[in-house]
Order: sequence, then C-alpha cells, then structure tokens
Amino acid sequence: MQEPPRSGEKVLRGIPVSPGVCRGRILVLGKSHEEALHPHKLDDAEIAVQLQRLETGLVKTRQQIHQVQRQVTDALGAQDASIFDAHLLVLEDPTLIDEVTRMIHQDKVTAEYAFKVVSDRYIKTLGAIEDDYLRERSSDMKDVTSRLLNNLMGREDEFDPKKMTEPCIIISHDLTPSRTALLDKKLTLGFGTDIGSKTSHTAIMARSMRIPAVVGLQTASKEIVSGEYALLDGYNGLIILNPTDQTLFEYGQLVKKKVTLQEKLKDTKEQAALTLDGHRVILSANVEQPGDTEAVLASGAEGVGLFRTEYLFINRERLPTEEEQYQAYRQVAAALKPSPVVIRTLDLGGDKFLAHLQVPQEMNPFLGWRAIRFCLQERDIFRAQLRAILRASVEGNIKMMYPMISCLGELDQANALVEEYRQELDKEGIPYSKDLEIGAMIEIPSAALVADALAKRVKFFSLGTNDLIQYTLAVDRLNDKIAHLYEPTHPAIIRLIRMTVEAGRSQKIWTGVCGEMAGDPLMVPLLLGLGVDELSVAPPHVPQVKYLLRRLKFSEAKELADFALTCESGNEVLKRSEALVRQVAPSLFETL
Ligand code: PEP
Ligand code: MG
Repeated sequence: MQEPPRSGEKVLRGIPVSPGVCRGRILVLGKSHEEALHPHKLDDAEIAVQLQRLETGLVKTRQQIHQVQRQVTDALGAQDASIFDAHLLVLEDPTLIDEVTRMIHQDKVTAEYAFKVVSDRYIKTLGAIEDDYLRERSSDMKDVTSRLLNNLMGREDEFDPKKMTEPCIIISHDLTPSRTALLDKKLTLGFGTDIGSKTSHTAIMARSMRIPAVVGLQTASKEIVSGEYALLDGYNGLIILNPTDQTLFEYGQLVKKKVTLQEKLKDTKEQAALTLDGHRVILSANVEQPGDTEAVLASGAEGVGLFRTEYLFINRERLPTEEEQYQAYRQVAAALKPSPVVIRTLDLGGDKFLAHLQVPQEMNPFLGWRAIRFCLQERDIFRAQLRAILRASVEGNIKMMYPMISCLGELDQANALVEEYRQELDKEGIPYSKDLEIGAMIEIPSAALVADALAKRVKFFSLGTNDLIQYTLAVDRLNDKIAHLYEPTHPAIIRLIRMTVEAGRSQKIWTGVCGEMAGDPLMVPLLLGLGVDELSVAPPHVPQVKYLLRRLKFSEAKELADFALTCESGNEVLKRSEALVRQVAPSLFETL
C-alpha cells in the first residue's frame, strides 16, 4: 500500500493511531490560525476594507461574548460569568486597537494579520511576567484573539459535533481529547489531524471509540478542502484524496483480510491468557467511559485494569457530584463483577482540561499541575471522588490507583485522605469495602527509582508507560516532530520496568502495565519476560494480545528480556522482539 500515488490521487502521510479503513467526504474543522500570519501586501484601496472588517469583527465578537456570558450566568451564576468581563475589556482596549489599526495602515496588511501580530506580542509579554493576575490576562487575550480571528476568517468558533448531519471524515489541525470524546461514532467515519502522536489521549480515545485515525499529517488541514472524497487508512497512516478504482479495490482486499483475522481472533474470547508453557497473565482492558463495559465483556478481557475517570469530568458545565460519580463507578463494577475494576483517580492536566475550571495556563502542562498534584490541592474535588469510589467498592471488585505519584509524600497524603473519608463514612453509617486495594501508577522515573519504598505502602503497581517513556526520555508524547525518539525499548525504559517489577516482587505485590505498550504485540513478549503480571490494553487489542500470548512460551519471553536487559540498543531489542513475534504468530503480520 506504500506505492507512489496514481494519477488523480493524492496521498498524505501521517502516523497511524487507530486501525481501520474508511472512505467518504471530508469535513475540515477550524483550521489553525497560522495562515493569518502570512502578510499579504494589500493595495491602498483595500486598507479601508480591512479597517471595516476589523470593526465588524470586533462588534460580532463582543456580541458573542455577551451571549456566552448570559448563558454562563444562567447555568453557573454571575460570579463564574465575570471572567467574560475581562474578555470584553481586551476588545475595548484603545491601545491595542490603535496599534492594530496603525499596523493595517502602515504595513498594508489584513485585519487578522495585524490583530494576530499585536496580540501575540501582548500574550508573550504578559505570559512572561511573574504575576498570576497578569498571566491570567495573557490567557484571556488568547481566547479573545482566537474568537476574533475565527470571526474574521469566517470559521466556526467551536466545533459542535451536533451540527454534523452526514457521515464524514474529519480533518482538523488538532483535536483535543475532550472534543474527540464528543464525536458521534455513527457520523465520524474517521479523523486526521496535522499534529499529534500515538500515545496522545486523542489517539487513545480514537482507539477506544474504534474510529480509524491518522495524526501528524503536518499540513493536511490547510491542503484539504471540505467536500473532497478521500480514503483514510488507519493501519498505515495515509489519507488518499480522490482514490482511483484500483486503490479502492486494493483496500477492499485489505479489509477482507482484516475481517478474516478478526474472525480468527474471536476464538480467543473464552480462552485463558496462558502461554504455551502454562504461564498465566492477567489480561485486562482500559476504559474511558462507563458505557465501555460492553466492549470489555465482548473482548474477552478479565476486567478493567485502568478506568480513566477524567472523561466523567470533561465536556460538562459543572463537576460531577459524589452521587453521580458513585453511580458511574457502581455501574462499571456491577457490570463486570466479580472481575476487578481498577479505578484511577482523576488525572486532569497535561492535555486534558475542564473548560469550566479556571486553571491557570502553564508553560509545561505535562510537568505541571496534573493528576495527584491537582487532587491533593483541590481537596473538595478529590474528596467527592474518593468517597464515591469507597462507596461503590461494595458493589463489585473495585481497586483504586493514584496517577503521577512522584514521591512517598504524595502517596502518604493521598492514603491519609482515604483514611479520613473512611472515618467520615463510618460516622455516616455508609458502607464501603474495608479491603479496597490501593495501588500506585508508576509513570514518573522517580517513582520507579523509589519503587522499593512505594511497594511497602500499596497493594499493586501499574506502569503507565505512556508517561514513563515521555518523562524518562524527555520526549513530549504529543509531539509528532520527535516521535522517532519515543522509544519503548530504550534501555532506560527496560531497566525502569524491571526495577519496578523487582521492587513489587520483594513486597509480594503484583505489577501491571496499562500504557499503550501493553497492547502492542511487539512489546508483549518483552513485558512478559520482564516479569509483568498484568497487561491492560484497549478493548480492541485484547484478542490479538491473547492470541499472541497463547502462542508464546514464557521461556522465550524471558530469554528476550534477559537479552534486552544487557543490550545497549533499543533498536536491537525491537528487532529481536519482532523476530520472535513473527515466528510464533505470523498471522498478526499478514495484513499489517
Ligand atoms: C500512561 O501514562 O501510560 C497511562 C496509562 O496514563 P495516561 O495515558 O492516561 O496518561
Ligand atoms: Mg499517564
């Protein structure tokens, strides 16, 4: 499928992140504003037009903000809506507007170009000042600029999936995890974005929703026009515009092969995750929404190894109450009973934010106020979640784990809060399971390095390899430009995984892996050989992982891990691992 394009066709290459092939009309959403930055020298006659456009754009933006302000006042009260006063002030700032007007006159540029240049300068200056208030103003400025540019460039301000009326392939510069979660599966055939990577939460969400997706398409959102006909190949990371009959035929064959393979893999549903030489592995599934339990049951997984609870919090106008959360956790636990469900406490921050929480903008959100750090400070939010999990624990086999633990102190603090809320529930006469097992995610190198001490305080470890790789190798997991450096088989990663497993064993606790590495067939033998007890993967990956496990010998996996632990090159490990998987489960490669 990697041949040069045929006449009439145009092939755009990106990173495949969610398998599947689809074809249909393209819908391009809110392109990036970058193109506004190209200064087009205008004729003198056009200056007046640009000034008029600026004026109209400002008026329209003001009206929109007033309208949003009214809606927020109705939903949340006047205090929450007061943030929009600051947005209105930006639009009425005479210094800013004068500067933009002067630039249009002097440099003969469009209204959007002038506004973007001037406002970027303000944003940069305000953002660099060590003052929370002024930094807030920088983020107000960004919001307002984006709204005004959308108006000037005639674009939708917010992507509203409800406005989609027919099935299409979505192309966008970026798609946040929260927007991805809003996609209607029936109307979204697939999606492609200019930026992104395999372990971004957007990609994870696409896999969990079974929507074929390609990211890192660079300039696709600028090159493709809504209405074009295209084929999206989520296996190889391609978007083929105007595919020829021959291409469509070839893809028809590929899809047939995939269906045959899926049929073959279905047999594994009732089978145990057991290697040829009798080594047992726990194979669980990752879920994002309470409704995902059906997919878990259909996949043949033995429970949930990671419930990413943040999706209960995003895309809504207020925080979920303790009762709402209790109902959600109870529903998942009851549906999967007696299988375990590992609920991860809130992991907000990084690339997942709540629109309605006024979280200050950060220079490095992945190194910032995220996950357990956020929860330990936002006690009311954490309390509601911990109480909801404790209460739901009587309804099934619930376990709980904390994300982003970096030191013992955080773990001790979180455990102390759990104890406090247990006592509260005791006083209120509300039941909870006294045996709720609590674990820690190991996804920060410092946690792996002190895993021996952490192991004394928890009942299990779950390796979050998506973050462990990002933080160990200093490779932003969202950045397609450095995706080649994101190397799961890097010797440093292999050693940290091994350290964690050994620390767990010394305290007789189990270690799982719930990052994307666990669902990659090429990584499965390595993780197994390193001594991992559980693999938790996206439901669609469960059958192939089980199929592979049942064709593998634990002794072969251990040999591979022994080699990996002494090997200085991640690439060598990958090659050896691939050779092993090709040898024991060649069908997995037939259609790759
Ligand atoms: C991980 O980091 O590997 C993980 C499972 O958590 P998330 O992908 O949600 O950050
Ligand atoms: Mg993580």
